[in-house]
Amino acid sequence: MAREGAPVVHSVDTDIFYHRYFGRCMQCGFCADSCCQHGVDVSVVERDRILARAAEIAPLVATLPAHWFETAVEKDEDFPGGAATRTTVVDGRCVFLRRDARGCVLHSLALESNADYHELKPMVSSLFPVTFGGGELLCSEELVDATLICAGEGQTAYEMARGELEYYFGPELVAELDQLSART
Ligand code: SF4
Repeated sequence: MAREGAPVVHSVDTDIFYHRYFGRCMQCGFCADSCCQHGVDVSVVERDRILARAAEIAPLVATLPAHWFETAVEKDEDFPGGAATRTTVVDGRCVFLRRDARGCVLHSLALESNADYHELKPMVSSLFPVTFGGGELLCSEELVDATLICAGEGQTAYEMARGELEYYFGPELVAELDQLSART
């Protein structure tokens, strides 16, 4: 079980040990953060945490807080709070993607204040390109179908997400995944 009560993971798709991509994102000079072009799913808990800090975040974002998230909320037991929505897309990019530099506003704001970026950055963004659904850990669709611009060579999805999986799910799960990875 993840630290905020969801998702609860029962199985893993071993694709996460095989699919590779250029995992050192900030060393990349050609993608222009294209993996953020579609926005991201956020739990209602994460949405509310971000909105609670709207005064700090708003000067760094192009639109008003009322337009940061899709209004539709869907029940989803894989997300903390049992429901999720999605960040909006503005000019073909997630509303929280920086316009003045590379990277995510939510991540960089945390770093600038010496805070843990997990306090604001959505779990789906942190785990990418590992994701979850129906109680399973799996590869994000765009890595599997190779529409992710940097898919193909480099680190495996698991290698790059290992630290984040440990943060969200704890060392016991990662120890199990390490064993599984060694057998694949
Ligand atoms: S929240 Fe940040 S990391 Fe996630 S898609 Fe938006 S800009 Fe990218």
